[in-house]
Amino acid sequence: MHFHLTPNVSQTILVDQDYTSIHISGKPLDLKSIKIQIDSTITSLVDRINFHTEQPSAFVVFENPKKNIKIISEREVEITAQLFYAPSLDLENKFSKNKVDNCEKPTTIPASIWREGLTKPTPGRNATVVKHCIIHHTAGSNTNENFVDVVRNIYLAHTEGNGWDDIGYNYLVAQDGTIFSGRDAQGIADEDNIQGAHFCSKNRGTMGIALLGNFNLTSPNLSQLEALESILNWKLFKESVDPYDQYAHPNSLGSDLGTIGIHKDGCATSCPGDSLALLIPEIRDNVRTTLLACGLPLKIKTLEANKPVSIYPNPSAGNITIRIKNSDMKSYRVVSTFGQILQSGHLKEKTTITIDESNGIYYLLLEDKSGSFQKHKILIINK
Ligand SMILES: [Zn+2]
Repeated sequence: MHFHLTPNVSQTILVDQDYTSIHISGKPLDLKSIKIQIDSTITSLVDRINFHTEQPSAFVVFENPKKNIKIISEREVEITAQLFYAPSLDLENKFSKNKVDNCEKPTTIPASIWREGLTKPTPGRNATVVKHCIIHHTAGSNTNENFVDVVRNIYLAHTEGNGWDDIGYNYLVAQDGTIFSGRDAQGIADEDNIQGAHFCSKNRGTMGIALLGNFNLTSPNLSQLEALESILNWKLFKESVDPYDQYAHPNSLGSDLGTIGIHKDGCATSCPGDSLALLIPEIRDNVRTTLLACGLPLKIKTLEANKPVSIYPNPSAGNITIRIKNSDMKSYRVVSTFGQILQSGHLKEKTTITIDESNGIYYLLLEDKSGSFQKHKILIINK
């Protein structure tokens, strides 16, 4: 549906039918002025802009089916809105969570299960030899816990909205650690060797993993990160690929593309969000440690030579030491994954701190003299 909106006059989209998600596209400037109103709740779209299609657009999955959806704009704009309806499906948590400490395939919810009641994907698949696992976020809600319904709506947006054969990603990871198999293999190859639609129109050699949520400003929680790492452990072990390696790829913005890469390594996009992008070096470290423990023969190699800062032990029970080498770092902050500052102080060459918080992921932000921050993930366990 195409809309011409005049300033501050709300326009109602079809009232006769339930919808479960909306996809709005328009010029970036237009989208910034748009809000959607459902019942009495008004949602701004600006923080939900999704660059996946290379065209700014916003995709919102509702927590319940909605009838009265209004669009309001502060200025005169032209936009296109697509609406989807995916009947809710309750899988009653029958799928167990995933371990990260081995290289077996984690449990996933097959597409044939979560897709129940929706139109099947169009036939026609290509197999590909995967050398790069590409990490995405879906730029959607961080609070909607109807994960199965979120995945079903993404499927509709990709198939009915974008006109693709199937959902674009090979795997989707929910905030509680549930993993969904994505693109249907249709008997062509293993599902993890099916070429998807997620990486800047150059999908050959890649496997796409999308984390549900928006990680521009917040980081994924521990359950979601562990599930992501469990897929990476399994897939890189299966392909005998080193997480520290890079290979030439036709759509890499740099010279080479990492074996664990992110969407914005390939084209202009904010995906997978700055807060998730910052965790990639640590994810590579973690996966490499697991691959070695699984017996994959990897050459001795480190990305951390001459690292100016060391933080140890990590994980810890709360007592950690920060050691600075030839660095102009001056202060530290410990922040929660929600961005709350829990403690702060000055840094010496060697600083030992005690973090009196419950088990979980925290961030240590180190500020240098110019006022810029270095972010390190720390894990507190066994308290
Ligand atoms: Zn992406």
